[in-house]
Amino acid sequence: MYLIEIYKSVQGESSFAGLPCIFVRLAGCNLRCSWCDSEYTFTGGYKMAPEQVEAAVAALAPVRLVEFTGGEPMLQAGELVPLMRQMLTSGYELLLETSGERPLGEVPPQVHKIVDVKCPGSGEAAGSFRIENIAALTRNDEVKFVISDRADYEFAREFIREHELDEKAGAVLLSPAWKKNSLPERTTANCALDPKTLVEWMLADELPARLSLQIHKYIWEPQVKGV
Ligand code: SF4
Repeated sequence: MYLIEIYKSVQGESSFAGLPCIFVRLAGCNLRCSWCDSEYTFTGGYKMAPEQVEAAVAALAPVRLVEFTGGEPMLQAGELVPLMRQMLTSGYELLLETSGERPLGEVPPQVHKIVDVKCPGSGEAAGSFRIENIAALTRNDEVKFVISDRADYEFAREFIREHELDEKAGAVLLSPAWKKNSLPERTTANCALDPKTLVEWMLADELPARLSLQIHKYIWEPQVKGV
C-alpha cells in the first residue's frame, strides 16, 4: 500500500467530529476537486505492507477510532478492504472517507463510510459519483456535500431528496467549502460560503441534513498539515 502519513488527531468533519482518531492517509487520487486541500497526496507516498499499517496504528494506542482517508483510499481497495476486515477483527472502529467514485459494495458493513458526493463547484460533479453506491449505504454511513455556492446547495438538496439519503444513511452532512487561498487566521472568513447563509437555506427548506464545519481548521491554522 502507498501511504502519505499516519498520525493521531481529532476527527474533524463528520458526526464523529471532536473524537480522538488515528488517520491513515493513502496516496493517490483520480479526481481534481477545485477546492482540494490534500493535493500533496496526489503523487509519491511510501510503501507499507498492510500488517505494518496496523502495527503503526497500534503504536498510537489507546485510540481505537481509525479513519482511512486520502487522496482516494479506495484506489487501493485490493489491499485496503482486507486490512479493514483484519482491523475490525482486532476491535477497531473504522471510518472510510471516500468520493464514492470507486465501488463501495465490498467495504465491510461495520465500517462507517463517509461518502463525499461532488457538487458542481468542485469541477468533478459530472459522472464522478457511482450511483450504484447508494445501494451500498447503511445507517452506519454518512453522505457529505461540500458547498461553494447556491448552485451547489441546490444540487445537494435535489440529490438528497431524489435519493432519500436521510432514510438510507445515518447522517447527511453539508460542509461549506474552504477557500483555496485562505487567510492564516482560524476564521469563517476562509469559507467560500458563509456557514450562516448555508444554515439559513437549510432551515428555509427544512432539509434533513446536518451542518458540518471542518473543526480542525478552527483548532489549528488552516495551512497546518498532519493535524
Ligand atoms: S477527491 Fe478528495 S483528495 Fe481527491 S481531489 Fe477531491 S478533495 Fe482532493
